[in-house]
Amino acid sequence: MEYEAVIGLETHVQLKTQSKMWCGCANQYGSEPNTNVCPVCLGLPGVLPVPNAEALRKTVLTGYLLNCEIPRFAKFDRKSYFYPDMPKNYQLTQYDQPSTANGYVEFEFQGGISRVRITRAHLEEDVGKSTHFERHSGVDFNRAGVPLLEIVSEPDLTSADMAYAYLNALTEILHQGGISDCDMEKGMVRCDVNVSVRPVGSQELGAKIEIKNMNSFSGVRRALEYEIPRQIEAVKRGEKLIQSTRRWDDVAGITEQMRTKEDAHDYRYFPDPDLMPLAPTDEWLAGVKAQVIELPLARKQRFMSDFGLPAGDAEVFKINPTLGNYFEGIAKQAKNPKAVANWVINNLQAKLAELNEAEKSEQGSMGLEPADMKLSSLADLKFKPEAILELVNLVEAKTISSSAAQQVFAEMFATGKAPAAIVQEKGLAQVSDTGAIEQFCDEALAANPKFVADYKAGKVAVLNALKGQVMKLSKGKANPALVGEILERKLKS
Ligand code: ADP
Ligand code: ZN
Ligand code: MG
Repeated sequence: MEYEAVIGLETHVQLKTQSKMWCGCANQYGSEPNTNVCPVCLGLPGVLPVPNAEALRKTVLTGYLLNCEIPRFAKFDRKSYFYPDMPKNYQLTQYDQPSTANGYVEFEFQGGISRVRITRAHLEEDVGKSTHFERHSGVDFNRAGVPLLEIVSEPDLTSADMAYAYLNALTEILHQGGISDCDMEKGMVRCDVNVSVRPVGSQELGAKIEIKNMNSFSGVRRALEYEIPRQIEAVKRGEKLIQSTRRWDDVAGITEQMRTKEDAHDYRYFPDPDLMPLAPTDEWLAGVKAQVIELPLARKQRFMSDFGLPAGDAEVFKINPTLGNYFEGIAKQAKNPKAVANWVINNLQAKLAELNEAEKSEQGSMGLEPADMKLSSLADLKFKPEAILELVNLVEAKTISSSAAQQVFAEMFATGKAPAAIVQEKGLAQVSDTGAIEQFCDEALAANPKFVADYKAGKVAVLNALKGQVMKLSKGKANPALVGEILERKLKS
């Protein structure tokens, strides 16, 4: 019998806000331990939580970005459990009436578009962070009370690769949508994986096994690459899998059983008596909806259809929307948007990347943190975006050759001068005047009788050598296509 995997993901994402969920403490990564804390996030007796309006807004905005319904009633519940990194002994979360539900995410996968349904994206709070030293443990409460979104998918994923593609698409949407910085290294995104197997064709779900402790998307993929065959082999052996939680060991590359359903917690959820339920108004919802960005995939598809870009170019602009906006601003006026895309991607982006590398190593040696670096960006460019258009037009009109265009670009990048002015100043205009080219050709033919003889004897390849001679005589300014034509005509006569 053939088996297939069924996978659902629970993804936790820290919201990008100034302050924490229920207090005014900074939501900031990397501070000294226990410096962003107050009686509220330390769970001291007698305090009252005040919801962070920006977090509520970002939650609903996420709902819109993930095509969710936004219920007109939502509430917060206490999820009770005792753990050193959770000072209140309960976590505030949205249990049965979340702020968003029933959405989906679409993404490219294996040459097509896949859709994964989103059960819900609900708002909760992060917990502190325990660190275990040799002889003692420490808890840092800076993270306690940071707004956290849990995005639960339906079990629509069918492979490790698909789960990986989904996670990348999801975080790309959230990052571009301004919801979260989604920095995995800073723990801003964490993901629990639920996976079961069943005979192909069966509609029933197998026993759900949850895997924890992956700290990267590739870790998620590797955990699934290990766990799926493990489950399939087990059921093929006749073993009955039971609902359980396993831990991914990244070093060993295996999952190990942590607990079974029998020792599952009873969280004793109940509505928080200190927090009012949420009932968003039409006006407030409309304000949030107005901030929905064009989704990365939609943007890529639009760039391909509107500007005739190949998928590879459109992908660059999908990943980098700032560059995409820059391109779009000029492409609309371009006769040949593909050529504009080439300049933006192959020259402009490459040049900026090069500068950023140089600045990074320079500033890095001065001991500055990356956050302090002022790196080269589109905003620092000395030339106007339209200059790219002008440059493309000069090439298309054959006023300059493509190699001269490289020189013009380097100069406009360095000085901000307009392309036409640079062409004039440096005398880069291509010679398309046939009279002048005829003369160069005559000179080249007269100086190379051997090539002429070879050509007449059938060695047509020497045409390139002759062409090179003419280009040299013209100091690289002759229109190469015209040179070829004229030489051939002269040689054949
Ligand atoms: P729980 O009640 O334990 O939180 P849920 O039914 O809410 O479980 O599902 C949690 C996650 O597990 C969701 O992402 C869901 O898609 C996924 N899931 C549920 N059942 C299965 C299953 N049998 N196999 C794989 N994933 C599952
Ligand atoms: Zn606080
Ligand atoms: Mg659940």
